[in-house]
Amino acid sequence: GPDVRRFLRRNWLLLSTVLSVVLGIGLGLLVRQYGSLSQLHKYYFGFPGEILMRMLKMVILPLVISSMITGVAALDSEVSGRIGLRAVVYYFSTTIIAVILGIVLVMAIKPGVSHEADNLDRTGSTPDVTTVDAMLDLLRNMFAENLVQACFQQFKTKREEIEPSKPAANTEVPPSVTVMTTLVPENITKDYKIVGLYSDGVNVLGLIVFCLVFGLVIGQMGERGRILIEFFDALNEATMKIVHIIMCYMPIGILFLIAAKIIEVEDWDIFRKLGLYMVTVLSGLAIHSIIFLPLIYFVFVRKNPFTFFLGMAQALLTALMISSSSATLPVTFRCAEENNMIDKRITRFVLPVGATINMDGTALYEAVAAIFIAQLNNYVLDVGQIITISITATAASIGAAGVPNAGMVTMVIVLTALGLPAMPFLFLDDICDRFRTMVNVLGDAFGAGIVQKLSKKELERMDLTSDVDVVNPF
Ligand code: ASP
Repeated sequence: GPDVRRFLRRNWLLLSTVLSVVLGIGLGLLVRQYGSLSQLHKYYFGFPGEILMRMLKMVILPLVISSMITGVAALDSEVSGRIGLRAVVYYFSTTIIAVILGIVLVMAIKPGVSHEADNLDRTGSTPDVTTVDAMLDLLRNMFAENLVQACFQQFKTKREEIEPSKPAANTEVPPSVTVMTTLVPENITKDYKIVGLYSDGVNVLGLIVFCLVFGLVIGQMGERGRILIEFFDALNEATMKIVHIIMCYMPIGILFLIAAKIIEVEDWDIFRKLGLYMVTVLSGLAIHSIIFLPLIYFVFVRKNPFTFFLGMAQALLTALMISSSSATLPVTFRCAEENNMIDKRITRFVLPVGATINMDGTALYEAVAAIFIAQLNNYVLDVGQIITISITATAASIGAAGVPNAGMVTMVIVLTALGLPAMPFLFLDDICDRFRTMVNVLGDAFGAGIVQKLSKKELERMDLTSDVDVVNPF
């Protein structure tokens, strides 16, 4: 009847995306069963998916820049300061909750205890990054020295262990030096040097900081600032229209993305081998996103969190398929603004920053993975080390970029803080990455809803006084 037709008309994109996932899985399994594809053919198979990823990434830059600048410029500095503070408090507290949840679960389930540790590929690489390095990198990248360069690269510290220099055998060591060296415990003679910086992905943080300041400044400039605000507002509107076009291609891209993935997987056994670890990570992510986040949302907003959840469905599905909260950002914007009616002045600010620094799923995963590795190594953790895990997992999730597998890379920070060997589980990360990215996106969306509610008074007051119109592109 007309109800069904209306439902279909309103949700056709979501429905066709769900359908494309199902078809993609079917196609992948079919090709696995009956086709014998060469490596090259497998690569061609994934091509339509690659095109989708490229299109989504294409709009990130204009989207982040235009939404941050207009988002901040539309507020006065006092209001944006307050909204920003609320957002940051939300990011931090939910991330910490996620970490604690992860720690509690992994300590209770003990997936790593009495496990066949030998199944894992162990790469005992020397630590080349520490917590201090990571924090300094975070600060360093906040201030991009070159804005054009920041659009395609950021920098990370690279360090190397310096071999303690041994005195040559035939040199006489003066007595005073001998005394000195006996006083210094052996492990302290281990030293590192910073061998430089290496480039790693887009410096979104640097761009965000610049856009924040830029937006604030042009917001205060009066008449002359308005030209710029209108320019970026129009840029934002145009970009969102492009996002709409991209989303029409999405079902096709996702179909091939998932089919290619299924054709590619070589060792299904791995999922069984490390089953309990997966169960721990996935149940933590599920509890956080189905119980904790909705509960926090309900406490503050007093609206049905699951309606909100459904409104974000397209974004969550996208995150699940492409494992990147940055690349999902265009879809997150559309869902939050169109389906969940969140004020643009809030989304434009809370969503891009959240996609970069608020990663509940990643933080939870890092805590679980670190303790899992400790358990595999029969390494007993004391209270201090558990606190270290909470802090470094939070820092690592802030430092992780919203791109596929970023969390696995920053996990080195947590492991080296504990003195554990870095053991990347590349093969497992694929599934975990998908789900934690979904939780990362959900956390940002709920955050936007909560910050909007808490900022209601300021927004209403602005509606009365402001002369800057935020145009609705839809
Ligand atoms: N892929 C995740 C994201 O984009 C980051 C991670 O690897 O944990 O949110």
